[in-house]
Parts: sequence; structure tokens; C-alpha cells
Amino acid sequence: MSSLKPVRGTRDILPEEIKNHRYVETVLSELADRYGFDEIATPIFEFSEVFSRTLGDTSDIVTKEMYTFEDKGGEKITLRPENTAGVARAFISEGLAQNLPLKLFYRGPMFRYERPQKGRQRQFHQVGVELLGVEGPQADVEVIALGAHFLEALGVLDKATLELNSLGDSDSRNAYRALLVDYLMDHREKLSEDSLERLERNPLRILDSKNEGDKAVVAGAPLMTDSLNSASRDFFDELVAGLSALGVSYTLNPRLVRGLDYYCHTAFEFTTRELGAQGTLLAGGRYDGLIKQMGGPQTPGTGWAAGVERLALMIMDAPAVPRPIAVIPVGEDARSQAMTLTQSLRKAGLKTDLGYSGNMGKRMKRANKINAVAAVILGEDELVRNAASVRDMESGEQTEVPLSSLENHLARYR
Ligand code: ATP
Ligand code: MG
Repeated sequence: MSSLKPVRGTRDILPEEIKNHRYVETVLSELADRYGFDEIATPIFEFSEVFSRTLGDTSDIVTKEMYTFEDKGGEKITLRPENTAGVARAFISEGLAQNLPLKLFYRGPMFRYERPQKGRQRQFHQVGVELLGVEGPQADVEVIALGAHFLEALGVLDKATLELNSLGDSDSRNAYRALLVDYLMDHREKLSEDSLERLERNPLRILDSKNEGDKAVVAGAPLMTDSLNSASRDFFDELVAGLSALGVSYTLNPRLVRGLDYYCHTAFEFTTRELGAQGTLLAGGRYDGLIKQMGGPQTPGTGWAAGVERLALMIMDAPAVPRPIAVIPVGEDARSQAMTLTQSLRKAGLKTDLGYSGNMGKRMKRANKINAVAAVILGEDELVRNAASVRDMESGEQTEVPLSSLENHLARYR
């Protein structure tokens, strides 16, 4: 029955794998806290306009990838494909403009109708940060440094490259757009159909095309960096100086644009060669026009999002979780005692597993399977003496311990 399979592009994340997801989220939560970013959670669906009006009606996300439906009340709803637009919407509707500068981070599922492959799904997860209300490049330096620190903490920074570009302010971008369109018009017969369409509505997007023919044309296109006016150039110089001062290494990639319409000045991606075609781990930039475009007050912003699945694939050694203590009752009489004992150990902060049924041999097997660090064996003889046998699973050594000092004895396994 096809309905018993997960929907194409979605998957069950089983316990072994979700450990890495949780680790990615924990590392970001802790670092974000250290950098002064507070968590925000916006709904996983919004009115479609929140995305269609902000991401740009020529972006891949809006033209091809949105999960949009009409709800029973006739509202047009979209499952969020990303979270920056949702945060901007919340900023406006919650009146957060009083609290600038605002530093936020988020985590959660996103939805895009894409062709599923390794590192690309229809439901995936992101963690991300947004810094709202700071005009200058020091904000970009801070969020990029946080991104590098995050990847370093996960042990993947040395497998990643920070690619950096400037899209300039709107004057610079308009000047560049004119140059680019002239160039592309001369090569239009080599462009893909998608790109011919973009040529009219959003030519910059062609720089981001994954089509091989487009890529060949783009290779000879004029460079954005040559069109930056002096204000844009100063902004970018200050950004790279700030990154250098913090020891964040980068390479300039003058072809780097972001897939979404609302970016200006800073654009960056941490990419890796280890995941095949899905090489972007963490990506972001500056979006000074977004909040105003949505109907809010002019508010600059900068931030990034990272794909949790892709990071989880890269992590080799998520830290080991603490090993449990197995409580093993022998015989019927010990059962209720085992249950109370287990509960008191858990309340004392010890990770404890209680076997449900089976003989001693079967339960010892389970203790091995769950990688128990020690087994507390409650046998009839021991119970008569108000004691339990504690077996150290590494050494195999077994000691009888009075129940009254059991907690103390087990503290070594914390
Ligand atoms: P790509 O070029 O790979 O499609 P993108 O530019 O669409 O990426 P962003 O919108 O910048 O990606 O999202 C930030 C990050 O989220 C990406 O770098 C990636 O790690 C992750 N990501 C995006 N789309 C998916 C997806 N469909 N499945 C898994 N992860 C994704
Ligand atoms: Mg994409």
C-alpha cells in the first residue's frame, strides 16, 4: 500500500540519526546564546503572500518549490520554504521594532518541492540566525564569524570553504544589471529557457543557474565587483577587514549570488566538496529591503541558514551519550522493588534502564545491547539482605552494595 510509505522527499529520522540532528541544534543553541542571540519559533505555515511577495516572483522557490494549499476557510497557505520571511513577518506583526538591534536564532522543518537526492529533500531542517537593525558591516562580520564558529564546533570547518561576494547597494546593482543584460543579450541563443525568462525579470538570477549551457555563458560575464560604487566598496572592504581581524578565512567568488530577491551587499556560502552536488552547508547575506517591502519600517538585516541534514551527514563524531545503568530484577518478587529503585535512581539524575521481562540471561543480553555501564542485579538473596549486586560491565567485577548506599556507589557512573 503506497500510503504506508513516507511521501517522496520526506523521511523518518530514526534514533541513531536524529542524535546528530540534536547535536547540530544543541551546538547552535549554545553558541547562539554565547553570542547573544535568542530563540524564536514562527509557525511552519504562513499566508502564501509572506513568501510570494518577499522571495521574488522569479525565484526558484516561488515559481517551483512552494507547498501551497487552500485551507478550509479559503485562505491561501504555504508551508514555509525558509524562515527569514517568517521572522520578518513576526518582527512586523509583533511590533519588535522597539527592541533593535534584535538578534534571533531558529531551528525547524522547512518544505520545498524539489527533486529528492542525497542532501536534498522536500521536508528538511534548518538552523539559522538573523540580526536585525544594524546598518554597518560589523553585523555581517558577527553573523559570519558565528557561522564559522558553529562549523568549527561541529568539526566540519576544515572541510568547508567560505565563499564571499558583494551584491552592492541598489545603485550598484542597477548599474551591473544593465551591463549583464547587454552581455547576456549577445549570448541569448546559448541560454536555457528558464534563463531567457529570467533575462527579462531578474537577470542576476542567471548567475546562479545550474544549467551547464548557462554556466558556460556566465563564465564570460562581466563581474559584479567591477560595478560596485564607492559606498558599496567601502562596505565590502570593512567586511573583509573585520573577518580577517577575527581570523575567519574566505575566498572571493564574484559569481556568488543568493537565490532570493531580497539580498544586498553581503552574500556568502560555506561550501564543501564532501557532499557531491549538494555542497552548500550554510548560506546567507544581507537583506536591508525585506522588512520594508513587507510593509514594515525600514530595517536592515543580515543572517544565514544551515541545512541540518547536510551537517548531520558531515559529522563524524557526535559526542557519546552517557551510558545507562541497567536494573535487573531476578524473579517475580524483585519486580516492584526494581521499579521503585529505578525511579529513585532516575530522580537522582542517573540514566537508568529497566528490563521488562525475561530471564537473567536475556536481561544481561539487553544490558549489553544498550551498552550499559553497570548492571544492578536484584536477586532474592540480595533482597533479604537489603542489598543489590552491582556488576561493572567493563571489568565484569561484581560487588554487593547495601540499597541504602547504592546511589552513592553508582555516582561513579554518572
Ligand atoms: P541549493 O542551491 O542547494 O538549492 P539554496 O540556495 O536553495 O540551496 P538556501 O535557501 O540558502 O539554499 O538554504 C540554506 C541551506 O539549507 C542550504 O545551504 C542547504 O544546506 C539547506 N537546504 C536548502 N534546501 C534544501 C533541501 N531541499 N534539502 C535539504 N537541505 C536544504
Ligand atoms: Mg534550492
